[in-house]
Amino acid sequence: MSKHPLSEEQFRAQIDRNREESIRRANHRTAQTTYASGLICKPKSPFELFGIEVHKGWWPLVEPIYKRIQELNAAGANIEITQIKEKFGALRFYTHNTPAGIDAMIKKAQEQSIHICEDCGAPAERVIGNYKWIYTLCPSCLKKRGITIVETPEEADARRRRKQARPESESSEKTGKRNNNN
Ligand SMILES: [Zn+2]
Repeated sequence: MSKHPLSEEQFRAQIDRNREESIRRANHRTAQTTYASGLICKPKSPFELFGIEVHKGWWPLVEPIYKRIQELNAAGANIEITQIKEKFGALRFYTHNTPAGIDAMIKKAQEQSIHICEDCGAPAERVIGNYKWIYTLCPSCLKKRGITIVETPEEADARRRRKQARPESESSEKTGKRNNNN
């Protein structure tokens, strides 16, 4: 059996982080269900509750969008930020009543985020770490967080495609997209 990649302390920290996230989401779901039943007032959005849920390296991506929304709202728009978080190693910036200009800014920032370390802002690429979480972190920040790289998302895709490929279709390996449904 291979040696555990994390120290016990790092492992506990990771479990705690996952557990807190589950509790947070469960509480939010409960609030929304209760709201739907008409018993309480509108629940707060994740943004109202938790603010910016990404680390400092991505704040320069978030800030110009945030400022532009403030400007537009000051001029009479009604744009609501509902959540700013990380998902699959990328920035997610969720809004309501979003004009096209803001939508384009968000799309661009989300695309840029997968090449920027979420912790320090250095150039970085997405990796899959232990426990199959996807991170966009530079090598030094991965080390600081105690994350061991399992593979890159591209390697994971290639592995999945190899697994899905049936023996008789192996000869068409180079044809790119194939229909694997039956
Ligand atoms: Zn970094």
